[in-house]
Amino acid sequence: MDLGIRGKRALVCAASRGLGRGCAEALAAEGVDLVINARSEDALTRTAQDIADRHGVGVQAVAADITTPDGRAAVLAALGGQADILVTNAGGPPPGQWTDWDRDDFIRAFDGNMLSAIALMQALVPGMMDRGWGRVVNITSAAVRSPIAQLGLSNTARTGLTGFVAGMSRQVADKGVCVNNLLPGIHDTDRATALDAGVSQAQGISPDQARRQREATIPTRTYGRAEDFGAACAFLCSQQARFIVGQNLTLDGGALNVTI
Ligand code: NAP
Repeated sequence: MDLGIRGKRALVCAASRGLGRGCAEALAAEGVDLVINARSEDALTRTAQDIADRHGVGVQAVAADITTPDGRAAVLAALGGQADILVTNAGGPPPGQWTDWDRDDFIRAFDGNMLSAIALMQALVPGMMDRGWGRVVNITSAAVRSPIAQLGLSNTARTGLTGFVAGMSRQVADKGVCVNNLLPGIHDTDRATALDAGVSQAQGISPDQARRQREATIPTRTYGRAEDFGAACAFLCSQQARFIVGQNLTLDGGALNVTI
């Protein structure tokens, strides 16, 4: 299926590896020119070159911390203040117990997984509305629908972003802008490996056992792949997705045991 977005321009945040990279790759495969971002310059530059070589699109790399005002300013400057497609993403907050976190911890989590996405939408969506077309995909987490006990900071910040999107997505849809969230369950990325390492230490089992234990909780019995996640993102950014507004699409191999 031709997604009809060749020649569009996208910002994909936190995209040197993992789910962000999966989204960047899938958009590039559809002929979308990219600005991609991550903090470590070397890895980001390698990813940008690799995507440009394989898909023949323009890929500009901006090494910056997207959770800071300066980082966002650098990325927005590279875009000349406008993009057709925005994919928001950032690293997840650390695990812990609900009694562990003080105000500063919550503010960091809000900056990382709620306020930075909102600031980017506030910066780029008005231009999309003026031009009559735009797509926004926020990478959140399946934890929005079913909390993960040790990731309370993530549960809290991402649910806040979800509430914001629920309202604003309906205020911009009449201008051709579709805003939606993608909710990853467990995917085979460095983040998942780090979480497995934590479980392995806490339970005195090997990382492989920790992984098998988590895989057993997923109906597909496998972790998701970044390329599958990216394909779903590209579809939400397609012309064909024009009637999908304010939705939360869970990609978790059926792990969440719910009817709707
Ligand atoms: P990952 O494999 O660790 O990749 C994270 C990417 O984000 C890297 O490119 C990293 O590059 C970049 N990054 C991190 N912090 C950043 C920042 N402040 N500014 C700019 N770039 C930043 O993680 P992932 O698995 O793709 O996860 C992506 C998001 O989905 C995270 O928020 C994660 O919590 C969430 N999630 C993941 C899963 C899963 O199973 N993988 C499940 C649910 C939710 P640098 O380190 O160089 O900045």
